[in-house]
Amino acid sequence: MITLIFATNNAHKVQEIQAAIGDQIRVISLQEAGIDVDIPEPHDTLEENATEKSRTIRQMTGENCFSEDTGLEVDALAGEPGVKSARYAGEDKSFDKNIEKLLTKLGNNPNRRARFRTVVSLFWEGREYLFEGICEGTIIGEKKGTAGFGYDPVFVPEGSTRTFAEMSLEEKGVFSHRKKAATKLVSFLQGMVQQAKT
Ligand code: IMP
Repeated sequence: MITLIFATNNAHKVQEIQAAIGDQIRVISLQEAGIDVDIPEPHDTLEENATEKSRTIRQMTGENCFSEDTGLEVDALAGEPGVKSARYAGEDKSFDKNIEKLLTKLGNNPNRRARFRTVVSLFWEGREYLFEGICEGTIIGEKKGTAGFGYDPVFVPEGSTRTFAEMSLEEKGVFSHRKKAATKLVSFLQGMVQQAKT
């Protein structure tokens, strides 16, 4: 079985990615790989931040690994919080404060369109590959639900009437940006494994 280091310590992300990937690939977090590092996300794009994270871990370990960076892009806020989603309301990275800031800035604006965009950067046998997953949806006016993390309580994906925070992991997976990117990652890896066999 392939084992891949996932360059994150976010337990929610590890859980979602492992559920999306199934049991064909074993995903281990930085902590499980014995790596104690907080990788900065200094860039202006999700792609550059994802690359920075996976390249750092590749250089430290020499192992195949991947990372992901995700942003919530709100149309009425010209794409904010975007790449700054984690630190929108400040360095303490509080989910509640981030949501509060988002809802305050949106106010009564009728344009509630938004999307989550995930970029996965994979380092596989020394080369980098990028995969993207997008989930369109809307931002509601107040928090609903307690599951998930981040902006989940105010995001309703297109095709549902419930927020991500009102869904189980499996239900979120039907719509999720992260699941879509992970599915592309898995089919790429399956192709690589198949190629190595022939
Ligand atoms: P990063 O990819 O770790 O930089 O995460 C950016 C931020 O986006 C997180 O801190 C969360 O606030 C938010 N975020 C990322 N993925 C999700 C998701 O699936 N649901 C809700 N919020 C998310």
